[in-house]
Amino acid sequence: MTTQLTDRLGRKIEYLRLSVTDRCDLRCFYCLPKGFRDFEPPDEWLDFDELERVIAAFARLGTHRVRLTGGEPLVRRNLPELAARLARLPGIDDLSLSTNATRMARHASELRAAGVSRINVSLDSLQAERFREITGGGKLEKVINGLRAARDAGFAPIKINMVVMKGVNDDEVEAMVEFCIEHGFTLRFIETMPVGDTGRRASDHFLDLQEVKARLARRFELLPGMMPGGGPARYVQVAGSDLRIGFITPMSQHFCDTCNRVRLAADGTLYMCLGQSHSFALRPLLRGGASDAELEAAIRQAIDMKPERHEFIDKPGQVIRFMSMTGG
Ligand code: SAM
Repeated sequence: MTTQLTDRLGRKIEYLRLSVTDRCDLRCFYCLPKGFRDFEPPDEWLDFDELERVIAAFARLGTHRVRLTGGEPLVRRNLPELAARLARLPGIDDLSLSTNATRMARHASELRAAGVSRINVSLDSLQAERFREITGGGKLEKVINGLRAARDAGFAPIKINMVVMKGVNDDEVEAMVEFCIEHGFTLRFIETMPVGDTGRRASDHFLDLQEVKARLARRFELLPGMMPGGGPARYVQVAGSDLRIGFITPMSQHFCDTCNRVRLAADGTLYMCLGQSHSFALRPLLRGGASDAELEAAIRQAIDMKPERHEFIDKPGQVIRFMSMTGG
């Protein structure tokens, strides 16, 4: 019988974001420092058996949605094999992936066949030179090819995630809307968060998404919109098109009271909040012979620590780990 995981504030935890590696092939300046290489050694990562065991425990506790993330999840070898194992677990009915899509062209059909149904692709610019600058050397063409392969493989919906930054890419929001209308993607704009030194430095470019919405409303007719999925984005629909635009506003309008998620880092550390340091190391239990009952009890104990909310505004210096470590 499932006993739904619920935190002290009555929030149901039904969604786990699973970082399968802290490594990434890009160096987006607001996420990872240029030239950064100080990653966890792979033997610190949970292996596929360990990951399957933890996710099965979460599923028994009522978590039914899992998102594979990172770092860049496609950097982890044999990711489709892991995806297939997780998709088969009783209780998991939604397996999705967040990716930068640089390696998607190679893996799209395999991931789709493995049971990944939905993908989110990070894309902050449609201009090759600017994309290269933002990502510390990334090639836009690879992402575009990856998106094409994802669409051909049947992923639906495909959501484009754009971190909108003043003076960096805010002049491209209209172009991104047109691009997503043309290709049938969903678009989400995200506010810059002070996660790690990189995120804090990028806060100079912070832009309140209410301003972006007001600007878009001058050019497009925006209707109230909905999107299934239970995430924090607030949606509008662009009249005369199928495009839905989501606004993810952790800074200007936080959504902590409806938070339904926790994050498992590649090394088995469970983080209760992106913007706080409350964590619980599950790896010692997994490698120390804990029973399934002990594992479930530990997860419950960890969820009890889930803080009420992040404090990005009041205490912006609080989170020193990079986003790629926690799993964005
Ligand atoms: N590599 C995958 C990807 O590109 O989607 C998954 C991990 S990445 C860390 C997840 C998301 O976090 C990306 O959309 C990225 O833009 C976002 N992100 C990273 N640092 C951020 C920050 N300081 N503020 C807002 N979003 C951030």
